[in-house]
Amino acid sequence: MFDMIIGGEAATSADRFEVRNPATGEVVDTAPNASAADLDRAVAAAREAAPGWAGMSDDARGAACRAVAETITASAEELAHLLTREQGKPLNGFGSRWELGGAAAWAGYTAGLSLPPEVLQDTNEGRIELARKPLGVVGSITPWNFPVMIAVWHYLPALRAGNTVVLKPSPLTPLSTLRMVELVNEVLPAGVLNAVTGNDQGFNVGAAMATHAGIDKIVFTGSTATGRHVMRSAAENLKRLTLELGGNDAGIVLPDADPEKIAEGLFWGAFLNNGQTCAAMKRLYVHDDIHDAVCEALVAYARGVQVGNGLDETSILGPVQNRMQFDKVSHLVADAVGRGKVLLGGAPGEGLFFPPTIVADLANGDALVDEEQFGPALPIIRYSDIDAAVAAANDSQNGLGGSIWSSDIDAAKAVGRRLECGSVWINRHGAIQPNAPFGGVKQSGFGVQFAEEGLKENTSVQVMFS
Ligand code: NAD
Repeated sequence: MFDMIIGGEAATSADRFEVRNPATGEVVDTAPNASAADLDRAVAAAREAAPGWAGMSDDARGAACRAVAETITASAEELAHLLTREQGKPLNGFGSRWELGGAAAWAGYTAGLSLPPEVLQDTNEGRIELARKPLGVVGSITPWNFPVMIAVWHYLPALRAGNTVVLKPSPLTPLSTLRMVELVNEVLPAGVLNAVTGNDQGFNVGAAMATHAGIDKIVFTGSTATGRHVMRSAAENLKRLTLELGGNDAGIVLPDADPEKIAEGLFWGAFLNNGQTCAAMKRLYVHDDIHDAVCEALVAYARGVQVGNGLDETSILGPVQNRMQFDKVSHLVADAVGRGKVLLGGAPGEGLFFPPTIVADLANGDALVDEEQFGPALPIIRYSDIDAAVAAANDSQNGLGGSIWSSDIDAAKAVGRRLECGSVWINRHGAIQPNAPFGGVKQSGFGVQFAEEGLKENTSVQVMFS
């Protein structure tokens, strides 16, 4: 039985919704539909716990956050199986076990960060100190692609900085989050971390959190369209916001790259988590001189990747997570098939399975290039002029990440600096680390997560003159 966690206690509801395994369509279990009163109780519990949590010593809060990381590590195998069953991603490859490893690593690293007071001036004219104070209650709203890891990215820095949290997972993947919150509540004071769920029909919990007067900040990861709603609603009580939204990352292969060497990195840059990754490579620009060799090497690598039920230990990619996303990918691929040259895949499989698809000879203006597919389909665009390729890469409302592939690192970096995006990778795509800030520009959102910069976003500055 999966329940919400409010004030350290299980909070149930007779009104529940089903969560299905995308590999089989079978019901995994049900989760509660929170009412407005449930959300109010969760916010009240977080507010009540806030002074005690903020008042603890920094060391004690760090130790509690380390205990959270240890709990995640100890429960990793249980949570990984649950994650595979509701999300579809395989246990192996860059799947559930990898996600749990990442969640624990992020939690552990972030637990070790701290933001000590700074002395800005100490002279005969006076002393100026800068302190970072928690904001109060942070509301976290997460998507379905990396439900466990993204929840940790949200709540751990918020807690580490002295805030309490109300967390709301996606209705498509709430179970692993509920179980994780239940487990880590065993090592946290009651009310410090609460979780509420809903299926977005009737009462929309996320929308209600964005307007809630008892929440001081929202950290939101999801689509740009929903991010706009959150931003509008947050104006009501001037909530602080971190918005991690959609991406349409470009990769650019320069003429001196080695096709054989980069094929594996290109594949996983685009197809990590079946392409359902905010910072996946969603368009690939390849120089005319090596275009055909790159396509050949990429397709050869992709042919060796095993797609199947995520619970099968041999699967390396699983199904698309949900019907809406599957239909979107199917529609974009069907359009691309009529415009470009299909090198691999190109047609939907059984159920929610969609084979890795690569379509060449496309251009900006084609829907698969312009829109965020968020699925296992990569468009390839041939170019001969690097300025035109950079302009095409930047011709997007998004600006999350981008990559340059070349044997000459300095030349690649020079091109990379011209990309309009928050992260640039050379000879890789989508790499993230807990010690490096990550965030988007343009309509991919604002604010950053990870590292000290991410921690600071969970605080306000107080300057004292004496
Ligand atoms: P989504 O916007 O549909 O849903 C995200 C969350 O918002 C869910 O928990 C949902 O229940 C909730 N929600 C729904 N309506 C709401 C409302 N009116 N107000 C507040 N919350 C509401 O996104 P999704 O389909 O779950 O995720 C896919 C999208 O997320 C893609 O566009 C992807 O690029 C993006 N994403 C971005 C990042 C990043 O770090 N930038 C990471 C992962 C995913």
